[in-house]
Amino acid sequence: MDSELAQAIAAATSERLARPGQFDAVVIGARACGGLAAERLTQGGLKVLLLDAGLRPHILRTPVRWLASALINPPANSRILPYLPSRLLDKARMVNGRLRQPVQRLCYAWHGRPDAFVDDIECPYSVAEGRPFLWFRVRGLRGRVGIPSHGRLYFRFGPNDFAPIDGASPPWPFAPDELDLWYASVEDRLGISGSQDGLPWLPDSRIAHRLIPTATESEFIAKVRTRWPGVHPIIGRFAPPADTLEGAARTGRLSLRQGAVVHGITVERSRATGVSWYDQISGRNQSVSVPLIFLCASALESTRILMLSRDAAKGRPIGAGSNALGCYLMDHVKVNVEAVGDALAGGEDIMTERWRCVYLPRFDAREAAAPGPARGYGVQVYQGRSQGNKALFIAVAFAEMTPRAENRVMLDRSRLDRWGIPTLHIDCSYGEKELARVQDQIAALRVLADVAGSSIVQLDEATTPPGGASHECGTARMGHDPATSILDPYNQCWDAEGLYVTDSASFPSQGTQNPTLTSMALTARACAHALGTRASAVSSEMRTK
Ligand SMILES: Cc1cc2nc3c(=O)[nH]c(=O)nc-3n(C[C@H](O)[C@H](O)[C@H](O)COP(=O)(O)OP(=O)(O)OC[C@H]3O[C@@H](n4cnc5c(N)ncnc54)[C@H](O)[C@@H]3O)c2cc1C
Repeated sequence: MDSELAQAIAAATSERLARPGQFDAVVIGARACGGLAAERLTQGGLKVLLLDAGLRPHILRTPVRWLASALINPPANSRILPYLPSRLLDKARMVNGRLRQPVQRLCYAWHGRPDAFVDDIECPYSVAEGRPFLWFRVRGLRGRVGIPSHGRLYFRFGPNDFAPIDGASPPWPFAPDELDLWYASVEDRLGISGSQDGLPWLPDSRIAHRLIPTATESEFIAKVRTRWPGVHPIIGRFAPPADTLEGAARTGRLSLRQGAVVHGITVERSRATGVSWYDQISGRNQSVSVPLIFLCASALESTRILMLSRDAAKGRPIGAGSNALGCYLMDHVKVNVEAVGDALAGGEDIMTERWRCVYLPRFDAREAAAPGPARGYGVQVYQGRSQGNKALFIAVAFAEMTPRAENRVMLDRSRLDRWGIPTLHIDCSYGEKELARVQDQIAALRVLADVAGSSIVQLDEATTPPGGASHECGTARMGHDPATSILDPYNQCWDAEGLYVTDSASFPSQGTQNPTLTSMALTARACAHALGTRASAVSSEMRTK
């Protein structure tokens, strides 16, 4: 950790938190969206308190959890690693997973960093009978983008996503090119590897590192284009997580409190006034008064916090002005295939660059022509060498889920988490359209594996429950109308001026693309809006003096 970040942590001491008027803004949640919000707001001159729920267990307070965490997190314990047989580590991981993380261990990335994921016993949720939902959660400064096998893929949404013409999802509350500037600023910050592809249904990104297809990728792309002349495979666009926390800390205006489990936002006469949290370091409930709040705790956590918050003067929860809070939950419908072939066409080991893939945007194997406005699904194809020097072929298809009011989350006040906070009850299932599309996805992946000359060893025939794609979106959507949405077109809460929710909770629909670039672009735009609003308030105050 760099020294500025250590100073930011030291600045958020219990003593300083107790002094009023220390902060201009609070950001809740430290990662993709929260880290960017903290960076943009501190660079804009604001003193920011960043609250994040994650905290590594302390050896004296929870020795058993500490030991389990130390055992399952070899990178942090490189000195003891040589003395621990790998079979012991695997066993410790599996036992801990079965006992404490029965949901989290179902995420494909859990094995690489189990202790980054939450403990399901401490952080429970419930689901409607017969409707499973997989809620994969990571707490801590690295967030989900920091887990080692995170996809790191970033794609813009296009006009068909923001202003769909088929009526299956509502238009977003701004012009289709409104985010272009903000996408560009986030892409510049991330440093994207990829290429310019000129596809109307997947806008180009700003590319920092131009990628040329390898021989294996070129051969696969050529085979796909021979089989489906209208399909345009591209090289996936990826980037490492941005060091936004460090950027915020370097301004000298960041204070960072880890272990702060936020459970409420206070609102007075439709204005946000403060934040309350359970502080794992002091073991007490704490609060701070502040006029500007960015809620970036990830889609469902942010909605849970909104549901726990009330407007004291009006005596009603935030968002109660519409019936949309908690509704329109979506996650991509995910289908996975693994196959092996004789040898890679190019003979190279392209999996050394783990995030590199061929991407088929809005692919639909039924169509011979270009996908056009049809929705299709995005397919990521990873090719590399297996241990036996065989050609490994892995493809994942992500299809859109239609936003439906009945797919929703509610507060369950009878079931509390480890910190005494009401948990979420999730009621979500696929509709007929999505289930029919799964069959298309399965058929398409079979053909793609065949086109690559590989034989299938594993294919998801049983539909992965919603949540399994880890791309959950919606439940506090933005819109033009406070009667049908929770957030205005700038991600600000209709019911609470100064409260912005900028993660994917705000999405009215989800496209087929991975969501993080869009939620970061929304965050950057909302920060500019908040800074602009504040600047004009200050100048009109000075004029009246
Ligand atoms: C294995 C995997 C691979 C993925 N691959 C991709 C990909 O390739 N491309 C893509 O676009 N997306 C991908 N995603 C999804 C992506 O990770 C998320 O969209 C993104 O991380 C969301 O960022 P976020 O800032 O909203 O939330 P998170 O990264 O989840 O961060 C939320 C933060 O909020 C904090 N927090 C939570 N609750 C509270 C609380 N009550 N109080 C205070 N703090 C709280 C947490 O500690 C955490 O740090 C993937 C997800 C997974 C799990």
